[in-house]
Amino acid sequence: MTDHPLKLFNSLTRQLETFQPIHPGEARVYTCGPTVYNYQHIGNMRAYVFADTLGRTLSYKGYKLTHVINITDVGHLTSDADAGDDKMEKAAAAQGKSAWDIARYYQEVFEADLDRLNVRKPAHPRATDYVESMIEWGKQMEEKHCYLLDSGLYFDVSTVPYYGRLARAVTDDGEGRIDTVEGKRNAADFAIWRKTPPGETRQMEWDSPWGRGAPGWHLECSVMSAELLGHPFDIHTGGIDHREIHHPNEIAQNQAHNCSADSAASIWMHNNFLIDRRGKMSKSTGEFLVLQTLVDRGYHPLAYRLMCLQAHYRSELEFTWEGLTAALTRLKRMVMAAERLTEQVKAAQSHQRLPPVSEFQHPKLRPLIDKFADAMCDDLNTAIVLTALEDALAVKKIDAAMKHAVVADMDAVLGLNLFELSRADLRIRPANAEISEAEIEAALERRKSARADKDFAASDAIRDELAAKGVEVMDGDPLGWEWKLI
Ligand code: AMP
Ligand code: ZN
Repeated sequence: MTDHPLKLFNSLTRQLETFQPIHPGEARVYTCGPTVYNYQHIGNMRAYVFADTLGRTLSYKGYKLTHVINITDVGHLTSDADAGDDKMEKAAAAQGKSAWDIARYYQEVFEADLDRLNVRKPAHPRATDYVESMIEWGKQMEEKHCYLLDSGLYFDVSTVPYYGRLARAVTDDGEGRIDTVEGKRNAADFAIWRKTPPGETRQMEWDSPWGRGAPGWHLECSVMSAELLGHPFDIHTGGIDHREIHHPNEIAQNQAHNCSADSAASIWMHNNFLIDRRGKMSKSTGEFLVLQTLVDRGYHPLAYRLMCLQAHYRSELEFTWEGLTAALTRLKRMVMAAERLTEQVKAAQSHQRLPPVSEFQHPKLRPLIDKFADAMCDDLNTAIVLTALEDALAVKKIDAAMKHAVVADMDAVLGLNLFELSRADLRIRPANAEISEAEIEAALERRKSARADKDFAASDAIRDELAAKGVEVMDGDPLGWEWKLI
């Protein structure tokens, strides 16, 4: 694979750059994780499918990967501009639970969703375990870069070079900036420490040199990335909204703490939004779709992963149910082809030892292996990689074990789990269906024997009975799924 250098789009330079690891043979990646005060919607999950695809590509290229996705279980106001309520405390009050319970619950759901999307398990440190280090950073930056107001300790963005370079924003009127906190020196200044207002008690608060309170949201990512990945590290990822405020603020803190103009990560990468007809999918507006909604409607989570991979991560992706249905059909076809291939490998019983796929020279496979590697290394062009994988599955008159190895290699990067999934896994019964899968199977068995006995009246009656319950029997279904819910 050495002949395919990995090119990634760096938001800092707005250019494709060749990945050059800081530590030879290693790749260290930090991804901004969720604020666990609510369920993650499928737009959020797009960010982690992207980060996972990046991680898988780095592993495929032979790098030893360390990947961190932090869990924001503290603070974080309803506005990025240090105004509004504390999301965690607000959710706790609304649900009559403790802020700690809320955080644990939504973290668990998030991790289960990552699993269902076949996101490999990264490290998941919680912000609340790093508050001490955050206070240390605050102390270290305080003198040269911060000032104290009644509401807390603020970072003065005019004290670091090139503030907002990542966002391409001019300091004072960058997009989304609202000068809501009285006394701020610059509109873009942000909280390092938020003091608990006098007379109030927060469920999550700590003592600090600036009073009892909680850290500002941006601080945790600077601190956790430095502690867990070292300084500097290779790649920092997040959704494109973070390019505007959160990441410029992280960079400012990194510069201040490290006394350097350097941003701390070599490459900053951002995935674009999942949108629907109304615009960006977000927690506050539009249809709030979570992964479980898709499952309840009969879609396997990996159909959503495939939907994400069909678009380039830097393009907007519009979610439609039709699009998801098409992705599920595509996945079914791939799984069927993979099942047939596995059977062929078993039938061939070959004990031949194969070289690594990158060394295969077979004229039918070599161009596909190159197409795959070129596309993956071209800033993760997964849409093209998918076509290479489908082409590989379709190659005829070739040693099954070789073909299997090529497809498995490609799938290791795409993460569709093609050789583990079965047709039955993909046939999910929607939550509101009036009939159980076992009942459908039993009716179909009865119908099969009626047809074998040439009792077509009985066979038609069973089909009508199923149709009345919303099940369409698909005789001779080319995908071999035999029935579907309508
Ligand atoms: P949050 O929990 O709001 O910090 O979001 C978690 C991650 O999801 C961040 O990287 C966001 O940038 C990203 N994100 C939020 N909304 C969307 C969306 N509609 N499409 C893709 N990514 C999103
Ligand atoms: Zn972050």
